[in-house]
Amino acid sequence: MTTKLNYYFFLNTVCSPLFCAARRPVDDMLPVNDLGAMNIQCPFCHAFHWIEEQVSSSSMHNPEFESCCQRGKVKLPTLRVPPVELYNLFVDDSPQARDFRKNIVHYNAAMAFTSLGVNIDRSFLTPGPPVFCIHGELKHLSGSLLPERNVNPSYAQLYIYDSHAAYEFRVSRNGNLSLQTLLLLQQVMRDYNLYTDIYQHAYEILRIYNAPDYTIRLCVVPGHDPRWYNLPSADEVGVILPGENQFQGDYRDIILHLRPQYYPNSRDGRNHLQLQRINEGHSAYCPLHYVLLFPFGESGWYQGLKSPSTSKSITLLQHTAYRIHPWAWEFSSILRGRRLFQAYLVDMFASIDQEWLRFIRTQQLRLWVTMLNGLEDAISMSDDHVDLNQLGERVILPSSYIGGPCDMHQRYLDAMAIARYFKKIDIFFDDDRESQLARNHM
Ligand SMILES: [Zn+2]
Repeated sequence: MTTKLNYYFFLNTVCSPLFCAARRPVDDMLPVNDLGAMNIQCPFCHAFHWIEEQVSSSSMHNPEFESCCQRGKVKLPTLRVPPVELYNLFVDDSPQARDFRKNIVHYNAAMAFTSLGVNIDRSFLTPGPPVFCIHGELKHLSGSLLPERNVNPSYAQLYIYDSHAAYEFRVSRNGNLSLQTLLLLQQVMRDYNLYTDIYQHAYEILRIYNAPDYTIRLCVVPGHDPRWYNLPSADEVGVILPGENQFQGDYRDIILHLRPQYYPNSRDGRNHLQLQRINEGHSAYCPLHYVLLFPFGESGWYQGLKSPSTSKSITLLQHTAYRIHPWAWEFSSILRGRRLFQAYLVDMFASIDQEWLRFIRTQQLRLWVTMLNGLEDAISMSDDHVDLNQLGERVILPSSYIGGPCDMHQRYLDAMAIARYFKKIDIFFDDDRESQLARNHM
C-alpha cells in the first residue's frame, strides 16, 4: 500500500474536457439555486454566513454555525490592517493595483522567505477559472543565509543584502513584474515584517562566529505567556545553537545556517545542496511564505496552540476555518489574495492532510494492523530471498481518510449502487489513477 499523497479537487472534474455536462444547452426548466445574501452572523463570533450553512439542530430564527468558531470554542486575534502601501494595492482600481492582484502569486514568491516545493499538476489547466492543482507532497523549503558560490541570492537571502542590491536581484529574477511594485513591496517588507529583523539579526550573529557548526534555531512557539497573540520578538524566536549536540531543541524548529549545507548522493557521487523542510507545525510556516497575506509576520498555527477563552487546543483545521471567514471589522488580506488565496487553501488542505496521515501512522495498533503488516506477509511467503531488513513499514489508511484506498472503494460501491438504481446514466467519469488504486486494494 502506498502512503503517497494524491490531491485532486472537484474542480478538476468539472474543468476536464472529458466532463461535458457544463457544455450542455441550458434548459429553461432547470431551477435556479440561489443561496441568498451572506449576511447571517454567527451568534458567537459574528462571522458572516449563508443561512444554508446553519447546523441542523438550530432553528431558522436563531441559526447557529460551527464552521467558523465551533460555537464559540475557537477564538483568534483579528488580523491587522496591512500597511497603507499594501492596503492600496489590495483595494485600488489603478493599473498598478490591478497588475498586483493579477500577479499576486509571483509578487509573493519574489518577497517570500521560503520557497514552495510542490509539483503543480498542469493537466487540469483550462481557459476557465484559474485552478491551483497539485500532485504529491507539498512542502516549504529554506536554505542557508548566504547563497552558493556564483549563484544569485533568493528568498530569505535577499533580506541579508542591502536594499539596492536586493532590488537588483529581484528585478533580474522577475523581469515580467512591475519594477515600481517590486520596490514598494520590498520596502513594506523591510519596514514592517518581523522576520526581516530576525533574519538580519541571525545573520549578524552567525557572521561574527563564522563557524560551520554554529546555527540559529527559530523556536516553534512564539512565547508562552497570555500574550500569545502578540507578534513574537527576535529574542523569543531565535536561539543561538553552538553545535548540534549540545541543545537538540524541538524537531519542528527552523535551523538557520550561514553557508550552504550539502549532502553526498551515492548514486552520482556528487554533493547536493541541502534545503531544510519547514514543519507545518511551526508558527512561522505560513508567515514566512505568504508574506503578502501576513505582512507583519503574524504567527500562524502551531501544535499546542490553545484558545485563550477555553484553554482547549486548536487544530490546524479549526485555525484555517476561522481565518477564512469574513467579519465586518476585519480587513482580511487572505480573502483578497485571489490566486494566492487559492494557493493558501491548497497548502492548508495539504498540511491538514499530512497532520492526519501522521496521526494515522502513530495509531496503527488501534487500527488493527498487526495482523496485516508487511512483515507477517513476507514471513508467510516462505521465500528465502526476502530480505526483512529491506521491508518498509506498512501503513494502513482507514476508510475515514478521504482519498485513501478504503474510501475510494466505498465511493466506487456507492457509484455502482447509484448506477444500478437509476439504470440509465449519462456519463461515467473514471479517474484511472484513483480507480486503479481502489481496485488494487479491493
Ligand atoms: Zn462563529
